[in-house]
Amino acid sequence: MSQLPACPECSSGYTYEDDNILACPDCAHEWSPNELEATNSDKVYRDANGNELQNGDTVVVIKDLKVKGSSLVLKVGTKVKNIRLVDADHDIDCKIDGIGSMKLKTEFVKKV
Ligand SMILES: [Zn+2]
Repeated sequence: MSQLPACPECSSGYTYEDDNILACPDCAHEWSPNELEATNSDKVYRDANGNELQNGDTVVVIKDLKVKGSSLVLKVGTKVKNIRLVDADHDIDCKIDGIGSMKLKTEFVKKV
């Protein structure tokens, strides 16, 4: 048996396992170890300000960006709704009104 992970809520080391659920006696937090593992292996996406981005977030573009394969330019301040984070060089998949599907880099956006 490997050692149980510390509580993700309060960092208590006194966690125990109960029916495939991990529980913390200090703050009564309960969580599934499988879920936790999935979360930990996930890449953390950060915007230009270092804020963490999540799927479904709304961001604004902080720099004029040329749309590949067209003469369109994505202007500073363009709002991008419902982003999807992907593990790629351009790590945001999104749809922009008037432009369509696009890929952006997290470093060129900030969370609204
Ligand atoms: Zn706890």
